[in-house]
Amino acid sequence: MPKKATKGLEDMFLDGLKDIYYAEKKILKALPKMAKGAESEEVAAAFEKHREQTEEQVERLEQIFDSMDKPARGKTCPAIDGIIEEGSEILSDYKDAPALDAGLVGAAQAVEHYEIARYGTLIAWAEQLGMKDALQLLRKTLQEEMETDEALTKLGEQGVNERAMQEAA
Ligand code: FE
Ligand code: FE
Ligand code: FE
Repeated sequence: MPKKATKGLEDMFLDGLKDIYYAEKKILKALPKMAKGAESEEVAAAFEKHREQTEEQVERLEQIFDSMDKPARGKTCPAIDGIIEEGSEILSDYKDAPALDAGLVGAAQAVEHYEIARYGTLIAWAEQLGMKDALQLLRKTLQEEMETDEALTKLGEQGVNERAMQEAA
């Protein structure tokens, strides 16, 4: 009980860092599966591009752990496990179906939105804690997540959603 009472914002920040570190590593494994499963080349290319960005995002988090003299360690994030599980369901339930890519784009956007929520909060806490270097790294990643989200929206608008309207052959 007394130990809990001393937990402050820095502990919360570190826990949040572990959560997103776990999530990013999980996403790193999921993206190639989604790219491989995607029907269209554009969708596959978008997933592949973001996989490369994700590798750098993992490294940025490791830099932040390092700057805090903490080991880079993930903490199970049930939210990302669930979101990725839903993506896998799309892959199996819509295999070879016209709506597959629309579903995959939607699943990927759910991942980005989770990340955007988490990075937004970490940025606010890093500001409060005066962690200037961490702030810069987190902002860079947030920017990439937002750009990815927008790119996915455009993919949907540029034909993926329309193709999903076709009846299965
Ligand atoms: Fe990410
Ligand atoms: Fe989480
Ligand atoms: Fe992302």
